[in-house]
Amino acid sequence: MPMNTGFSTRHRAARRGGTRRTPHRLPSVVIGAGPYGLATAAWLSAAGTPRRVFGDPMEAWLTNMPSGMYLKSVPAASSISAPESGYRLEDFRTARGHGPAGDRYPVPVEEMIAYGQWFQERRVPELERRRVRAVEHADGRFAVTLDSGEEFLAANVVMATGQVPFAHVPPKLAGRLPGELVSHTSEHSDLARLSGQRIAVLGAGQSALESAALLHEAGAFPTVICRADSVAFGSPPDTDRLSDRPRPVRIVKPGSPLGPGWSLLACSYGGGAIRHLPQEARMRLVRNVLGPSGGWWLRPRVDGRIPVLCGRRVRSARAEDGTVLLEVEARDAGMPTEVLRADHLLLATGYRVDVDRLGLLAPELRREVRTFHGAPRLSSGFESSVPGLYFTGLAAAPTFGPVLRFVAGTGFAARRAAASVAARNRTGP
Ligand SMILES: Cc1cc2nc3c(=O)[nH]c(=O)nc-3n(C[C@H](O)[C@H](O)[C@H](O)COP(=O)(O)OP(=O)(O)OC[C@H]3O[C@@H](n4cnc5c(N)ncnc54)[C@H](O)[C@@H]3O)c2cc1C
Repeated sequence: MPMNTGFSTRHRAARRGGTRRTPHRLPSVVIGAGPYGLATAAWLSAAGTPRRVFGDPMEAWLTNMPSGMYLKSVPAASSISAPESGYRLEDFRTARGHGPAGDRYPVPVEEMIAYGQWFQERRVPELERRRVRAVEHADGRFAVTLDSGEEFLAANVVMATGQVPFAHVPPKLAGRLPGELVSHTSEHSDLARLSGQRIAVLGAGQSALESAALLHEAGAFPTVICRADSVAFGSPPDTDRLSDRPRPVRIVKPGSPLGPGWSLLACSYGGGAIRHLPQEARMRLVRNVLGPSGGWWLRPRVDGRIPVLCGRRVRSARAEDGTVLLEVEARDAGMPTEVLRADHLLLATGYRVDVDRLGLLAPELRREVRTFHGAPRLSSGFESSVPGLYFTGLAAAPTFGPVLRFVAGTGFAARRAAASVAARNRTGP
């Protein structure tokens, strides 16, 4: 069934070629105004590419992450890329009258949001604060419908819609509990609303451990349940600046945006080479590099304060008398199955890329996108198998590796995607 977007007769005629416009006059569209969308827009503007950029700046950081959270990435790895100097996180801090922040400064999420909004006001003033409702393929171009009802044609579309559409719910838990008893971490901006409740937190990563800490501090009673044998925390950096570390240490463990060490350095700067690895190797890199662990500053807020049940997995979940009953089995076969009662189950179970979940792309368009493990196959310029349709951010991580999961990847991604879009615009499809 074709998607009914209410696209007008005039545009349908244009799509059939009735009022054909040369593609290079059409704008390129960036959907999403998080770090990747903003960086892409900044690089497109430097290339002089006609564009329209949509979304609320840093909306996902405001509404899909908990207030009181800190970034796990260090300040030097948390800047949104722009082609000119003067737009880094440290420039924002200077403009606000703050001193430089080193590696031992955990960036509060509120500061990151303010920085992203500051970046947008200065570098992407053309941003239109509207949502894109639908994108259809239209004779080599794209028919875009906004939530305002406006419809127009675009030469290229860059999907910078972030990770929220890919929130992962383990299949055995999907649809088992009424909505008020279960949520994914991405549904929360204020965990204090769960204060006073017993919360079972599923997961062992930063999101699980930080949510548990925030819940505990807000007067809730969290218990973390995870499959891992133990939960891991990072180590505090020895110094604030890489250059302060002794030379031999820097040689053995060179610094990089993803952290110290040669393998992280390779992942930080080797996205282009990673794309040529076999797809299973790439998937392993995305899953395992910087796998589940908490930031160093979380340890004192979790250790000895919050019960953590390791080596366990949830076998079943059901509602009983307005609470959640979880059957939790140990991976060690000798241990008995436990039954845990909670007022709420919080899934800190991460994100899995799946193009099919991007409902704003018309079903026919989604079917045209060639995928592997649900992720789009991308060219070196972030273009999918549909000419002119680009994916950036988390959706590109299975192609270019783990740096695309972080703000640190915005430079690599935006430079390449903008160059590819600009080239298409010059030559036409
Ligand atoms: C809890 C948590 C902690 C994290 N901590 C860190 C960290 O410390 N350091 C780090 O580098 N990364 C961190 N990340 C990852 C970080 O969120 C991503 O690297 C970054 O947000 C990716 O940017 P993005 O622009 O791709 O996506 P997002 O920031 O998610 O932005 C996507 C935007 O697209 C918008 N959008 C979606 N659909 C539409 C539509 N139809 N129309 C218009 N707009 C739309 C959304 O509203 C959203 O604002 C964290 C993630 C989570 C969940």
